Amino acid sequence: MPDSRMRSLPLAPSRGDQAPVRELVVVSGKGGTGKTSLLASFAALARDAVLADCDVDAADLHLVLGPRVEERHVFSSGHDAVIRERDCTGCGDCVELCRFDAIAWADGAPSPVVDPIACEGCGVCVHLCPARAIDFESRRCGEWFISETRWGPMVHARLGIAAENSGKLVTTVRNEARRVAAASDRDLILVDGPPGIGCPVIASITGASAVLAVAEPSVSGEHDVDRVLQLADHFKVPTAVCVNRWDLNPEVADRIEHRARERGGIIAGRVRYDPSVTVAQVRGISVLELGGGAANDIRGVFETVVASCSALHGAGTRPEGA
Ligand code: SF4
Ligand code: SF4
Repeated sequence: MPDSRMRSLPLAPSRGDQAPVRELVVVSGKGGTGKTSLLASFAALARDAVLADCDVDAADLHLVLGPRVEERHVFSSGHDAVIRERDCTGCGDCVELCRFDAIAWADGAPSPVVDPIACEGCGVCVHLCPARAIDFESRRCGEWFISETRWGPMVHARLGIAAENSGKLVTTVRNEARRVAAASDRDLILVDGPPGIGCPVIASITGASAVLAVAEPSVSGEHDVDRVLQLADHFKVPTAVCVNRWDLNPEVADRIEHRARERGGIIAGRVRYDPSVTVAQVRGISVLELGGGAANDIRGVFETVVASCSALHGAGTRPEGA
């Protein structure tokens, strides 16, 4: 990784005489790489960071951190057309106008009915209904929460079944995490990012201080980490790479690190396969709290990431007992 790129990173906006908020986003090319286990242990190491679960399609950080919900908010995105039967004249214009075939006549009904799944929320029927008989209601897509955990405040969310726009929900969670950090004078946000390289991942890494890509030592893991590095490079976010359960395939672990170096990534270290990770998951605690070989490896990864990414220097180093 050329140092110049790390030095040129924009930090989060300064809050006057307060330290800037740093944001470390942990991502993976796909689910099941152990990303959340690492993030939960980072939370235990940092001890007073703001935590943000941006894996809104399959949030599971709460299973380890047991948050106590203090605030609950509705997440709305887009609109649904809803016909008011009492005002509808039954002209049928909306059935003809909807290019998504979301409005149809139901047997014997005096007015057509909108299929909320098919409705794209374009608003054409709302504007062109001659009787002004169609409401345009905000679409409730999920909820987001601000909670307390034993390792600091946590912002997390739940996307509704079949709900879309997880990218917007990710942005909401990040913005709220920044607000909580500023309000509580915390200088580090640890983000559990979504897997993949789609819209939610882009929403979670743009403007971040650093990204940690967690990979498994497999051919698909090799490919995944390459894609994450490309994406992070595009958004000019320094990226560290960690191979989890590296000893299951040392040869591929070597290749992943070699490729990561070629692409300018920071090698954050490796985490060994350790059955205590599963024990920690079952007990609902972080690997760090359980201790063992993997816990030591994770500690080393966290320290390397904080030391290697200039935008993170000084973050998450609150001494014990402070
Ligand atoms: S266009 Fe308006 S008035 Fe006509 S059928 Fe549709 S909802 Fe009813
Ligand atoms: S809002 Fe658009 S997609 Fe939805 S029912 Fe009306 S015309 Fe169809």
